[in-house]
Amino acid sequence: MKNIANKPLSRLCRDGLLASIDDVSFLEYDAVTGMRCYGEFSPLLQSIHKEIPSPSLLLAKPREPYLRAINALSCGVDTIQAEDSESKMLLGALPVVKTSPLETNWAHALVKQRALVIPNWGIIVSAPNLLASTVIFSTACFAIKIKFLVDFVSSPTSLLLATNGKASETIATFLTDVKKRPARLTPLMRGIFTDLPSARKAMVQAGRRLVTLGLVNASFGNISYALADALLISATGSFLDDLEEAMVLTSLYQKNRQDKLASSELPAHRKILATGKARALLHGHPTFVVALSLFEASAKHTKVKHPPTICGVPVVKGKTGGGRCGLDKALAPVLTKSNIAIAAGHGVFCTGERDFHEPLQNMLTLENACCQAYQRLITAFG
Ligand SMILES: [Zn+2]
Repeated sequence: MKNIANKPLSRLCRDGLLASIDDVSFLEYDAVTGMRCYGEFSPLLQSIHKEIPSPSLLLAKPREPYLRAINALSCGVDTIQAEDSESKMLLGALPVVKTSPLETNWAHALVKQRALVIPNWGIIVSAPNLLASTVIFSTACFAIKIKFLVDFVSSPTSLLLATNGKASETIATFLTDVKKRPARLTPLMRGIFTDLPSARKAMVQAGRRLVTLGLVNASFGNISYALADALLISATGSFLDDLEEAMVLTSLYQKNRQDKLASSELPAHRKILATGKARALLHGHPTFVVALSLFEASAKHTKVKHPPTICGVPVVKGKTGGGRCGLDKALAPVLTKSNIAIAAGHGVFCTGERDFHEPLQNMLTLENACCQAYQRLITAFG
C-alpha cells in the first residue's frame, strides 16, 4: 500500500482528512490497462464495479472527528444536504447508505450520485479517475464539517441527541485544527510584479500558502494577477498547491478564447481587477467564514436574509460565474471600497494593490476572527 501513496492520496493525509493511507481503498478501471485495485476493501469495490461500471471507486474512512460527524448527521435522515455553495454545486445531497455495505444492492445510487455516506464506514465515491475521486471525497468532508458546525449553533437538539450529548467534543476537535494556524503570515513575495515570470512565481507561492493555511477546501479556490491589460489566472480545476503548469493568460478587459481554460470565477476576477483598484485577487473557502455566513443567513436565526457585514467585512450574495445573478455583479462595487468581501455561504474574495501578502493576511485574519466569533456563539448557547 505504501508504494501507491501517490500525490492525490497523500494530499488527503496532508489535509488531515485521513489518519493513514491504509484507511483508503480504491479501484480504477480502463479498457486498455485493465483493473487496478488497492486496499482492505478491494473485494467490496470489485463487487460494486460489477453492478456499476464506474472507472474509479474510492472508499475511505475519514479521520476523526469527520466519521463521528457523519454518524451524527446520518441519524434519522436519508440524505445529508450540503449547505455551502461549492459542495452543493459538486455534490448536491449526500445519500446515507442504510443497509449493510457488504450487501451491494445500494450501489446503483452511485450512478447518479458522486458520493454516498456510510455510517461507521465513511464515504464512498464514484468518479472518472482517482484524482477526481479524491477531490469529491475532500469536498464531501468539507460539506460534512460545515453542516455539523452550522447545525450545532442553529439547531443543536438533533445533534445532541444523535451524539448522546457529545457533539461539543466533535466541535472541539474541529477547533483544535484551527488553533495550529498562525495569526501573522511569514512574508510573501513583494510586488508590484511587472513581468510574467515574477507574477507566475508569486501566484505559485500564494496558492501553496492558501492551501497550507487550510483556507481552501480540496485545494480549490482561485488566484489572479493583472499585468497591464492582461490577466493571469489559475486554470479551471487546478490545485492551488500545484499551479506551475495550471495558469491561463487572458485579457483583463475582453472575453477571449483562453477563457474556457480559466477558473469558473473568471468573470468576478476580471470585473474586480478591471476597475484598476487592485492587481492581485485571492479567493478561498475558509471554514469558519463559510459556516458563520450560513448561520447568519439562517431564517431560523434572523429575519435578515444576509447581514451586511460579518466581523466587519461586507457580505454579498451571487452565483459562481457570470450571468444575471453572478457573483461578479455583487462583488465588483463592494471591492472598489473594501479590499475584502464575503460571498455568503461560499467564501472570501480579497484584493491587493501590489502583491498577495496583504490579501492573504486579510483572509487569515478574517478566518481567525470568525473562528473566535463562532466560539463565542457556542459559549453564549451554553
Ligand atoms: Zn469558490
